[in-house]
Amino acid sequence: MTASATVPAIDWFTSGATPALLGRRCGACGTYHFPPTAAWCANPACRSDRLETVELARRGTVWSYTDARYQPPPPYQPPSGEHVPFAIAAVRLEREGLIILGQVASGYGVDDLSVGTTVEVVTEVLERVEGVDRTVWKWRPVAPLGGGGA
Ligand SMILES: [Zn+2]
Repeated sequence: MTASATVPAIDWFTSGATPALLGRRCGACGTYHFPPTAAWCANPACRSDRLETVELARRGTVWSYTDARYQPPPPYQPPSGEHVPFAIAAVRLEREGLIILGQVASGYGVDDLSVGTTVEVVTEVLERVEGVDRTVWKWRPVAPLGGGGA
């Protein structure tokens, strides 16, 4: 790897202009799973092992959210060298029936979120390890919220 390398921190999403989270869908009953590591269906009435890896919906709605004011413990290293507080959102994907946690995109905080806010998947640098930028998915609000507090 070179000093300017950028790699996914984990292989749970696709990269590029329109990144998407990867999940697994049961070929027998249609149940979706995240992360894409399930070996058999989590539906207790099914338990099939016919799971295929699929891209999940790129947009969802905020189910809950919070503010991360404290730096995570090592081995986490902030990409800029100094911890910058960030928001975390639990996002519901309607079709899949899943709720997926993720950081909120840079430049957005809890003041930009409400339960029900539409967000979409983007990728950003999570941390820099030995000169390599490791990316992760984040949730970015789709439409800017009004400044008047509706
Ligand atoms: Zn199933």
